[in-house]
Amino acid sequence: MTFDRRAVGFATAAAATMMVFTSAFSAGQTRNANGVVSILVYHRFEAEVHDSMAVTTAQFARHLQYLADHHHKVVPLRSVVTSLQNHLQPPNGVVITVDDGHRSVYSDMLPLVRRYRIPVTLFIYPSAISNAPYAMTWAQLDALKETGLFDIQSHTYWHPNFKVERRRLDAAAFDKFATMQLVKPRDALRAKLNVEADMLAWPFGIYDDDLIRRAGAAGYVAGVTLDARTVRSDDRRLALPRFLITATVSDKRFEKIVSPNP
Ligand SMILES: [Zn+2]
Repeated sequence: MTFDRRAVGFATAAAATMMVFTSAFSAGQTRNANGVVSILVYHRFEAEVHDSMAVTTAQFARHLQYLADHHHKVVPLRSVVTSLQNHLQPPNGVVITVDDGHRSVYSDMLPLVRRYRIPVTLFIYPSAISNAPYAMTWAQLDALKETGLFDIQSHTYWHPNFKVERRRLDAAAFDKFATMQLVKPRDALRAKLNVEADMLAWPFGIYDDDLIRRAGAAGYVAGVTLDARTVRSDDRRLALPRFLITATVSDKRFEKIVSPNP
């Protein structure tokens, strides 16, 4: 099993020898493969689905019950990122993320997150918060943070389509634009919630080498995409794949996503 060492300049031979991945990782685990992580991304929760990015709240409850019944550990995204940073085996498990800061995260998702006591990483774009009618307020985000279950992170400043903007703007203007979109949400989260946001969800899952380089320069240590597969040990930390979960994902499909090696 190879691990990406490119990102860590100080990795030495000694450090490499310490990268011991013993069978202890598989012993006692309910999942068969070592370090198999499925990162899920939700967006909105509705009693009845009217929106292609939503799941029903009942469906989300079924997902959490399934994970609990089958002893799939829900682990924080941060623990996966820290493992990858240290070239250690990521913990086996399922990561739950939710993008955009829709108010149904507060009204519908939060009660279930509390009931099942699971860690969630929430990616928000600050331009919408306490502003757009569909979005949560800063006070609601603060309440989520206070539960100790939500890690609130960056989804850029206003959720741009970087592909479109790159075509629309000249190089200098795009440079300025991209820097603003990456830096400003970190400043806002620090000022409003006292959160040090160093993880990024790429809007629309759009990323490339240039954007990854920019995100690293802006202080991000991890980024998440919509590339629907499990995390590989040699994945770039700024482009970790996630499975998009919407109402069209059947329960059977969900079970497959969270049990990639049955
Ligand atoms: Zn989004």
